[in-house]
Amino acid sequence: MSFADLGLSDELLQAVEAAGYTEPTPIQAQAIPPVLMMKDLIGIAQTGTGKTASFVLPMIDILAHGRRRALMPRSLILEPTRELAAQVSENFEKYGKNHDLKMALLIGGVQMGDQLKTLSEGVDVLIATPGRLMDLFERGKILLTGCELLVIDEADRMLDMGFIPDIENICSKLPTTRQTMLFSATMPPPIKKLADRFLSNPKYIEV
Ligand code: AMP
Repeated sequence: MSFADLGLSDELLQAVEAAGYTEPTPIQAQAIPPVLMMKDLIGIAQTGTGKTASFVLPMIDILAHGRRRALMPRSLILEPTRELAAQVSENFEKYGKNHDLKMALLIGGVQMGDQLKTLSEGVDVLIATPGRLMDLFERGKILLTGCELLVIDEADRMLDMGFIPDIENICSKLPTTRQTMLFSATMPPPIKKLADRFLSNPKYIEV
């Protein structure tokens, strides 16, 4: 299996080559085609398996078309920690440099002024920790009704950190017609319940 077999655009194949990757990892080979077909996905994978690129690469192709709107992010990636959120944003910068995608990072402990300005201009990708996102949502600084692509990353760590109620709250504010991807290293019952409630007929991949 090569990256060229997965359905990614030529621009992304160039970005993958520039990153020095010769072949997709198992999670990438299995996740990228269904994600490009707009299917929901559950990926059981640890950090280090290439999981980040398995959602960032197809998301860049999906988001390449369409229009940004003020205060309404087009996609949302939830991460349990600010370090993970920062890593995902670095991945978007690395793979998306041939694309005109705007990104905002909403994480605790950071001055919000610049991020709020970026949001007000419209973003394609919002990467956030659940607490900070709910805080801004409740203050009316952000609208989630235009967000048709959602990634819940490291769901088992979200559970350990007590973020499940925030995630349920956020999910219920997104359009029901969205595409949702959930990644977790394990599938304890509360995560299974979350997936049953908020994903629709997901493709299940375990690596
Ligand atoms: P992740 O599991 O997403 O944290 O990725 C772990 C590491 O694997 C990162 O440093 C990536 O740059 C690297 N990586 C991702 N995909 C590939 C690939 N197809 N070939 C080689 N390295 C990769």
